[in-house]
Amino acid sequence: MKDCIFCKIVNGEIPSMKVYEDDLCMAYLDINPDTDGHTLIIPKEHYEDIYELPKDVLEHIFNVSKNLMNDLKNKLKCSGYTLMINYGSSQEVKHFHLHVKPQYKDKKFVEFIKHKELLKDINEVHKIIKEA
Ligand code: 5GP
Ligand code: ZN
Repeated sequence: MKDCIFCKIVNGEIPSMKVYEDDLCMAYLDINPDTDGHTLIIPKEHYEDIYELPKDVLEHIFNVSKNLMNDLKNKLKCSGYTLMINYGSSQEVKHFHLHVKPQYKDKKFVEFIKHKELLKDINEVHKIIKEA
């Protein structure tokens, strides 16, 4: 879809910090993370929300999230996860996405240092695109 920011990420028109990709979906770090390692998994095809998304693609995305959680667990040493899907007025970007939010038992206020470091350059590029 033409003006969809997540379609633009799939097409490589705007940058992302990709952590996984296959034929059906793609996963990348959230640009405004709630926790360190906050990741979004999206279908490559444009489906607006959970009601539009075909069942088999949803199942695939959930399977990918389980594998991704294992990978991230080893890398980030987190203690748990929250999976989240927003809809309607709670859904800011109208291209379906599953939030994968690593949680850290020992850290009440995570400083997101690793995440912010990784995203610094991408945020700069976004700023330039938005201001242009
Ligand atoms: P929603 O409320 O739609 O579930 O959340 C959308 C999420 O997408 C937010 O957490 C927001 O930070 C993230 N987001 C919005 N635009 C971009 C972007 O251009 N790149 C990345 N990586 N994440 C984005
Ligand atoms: Zn889209």
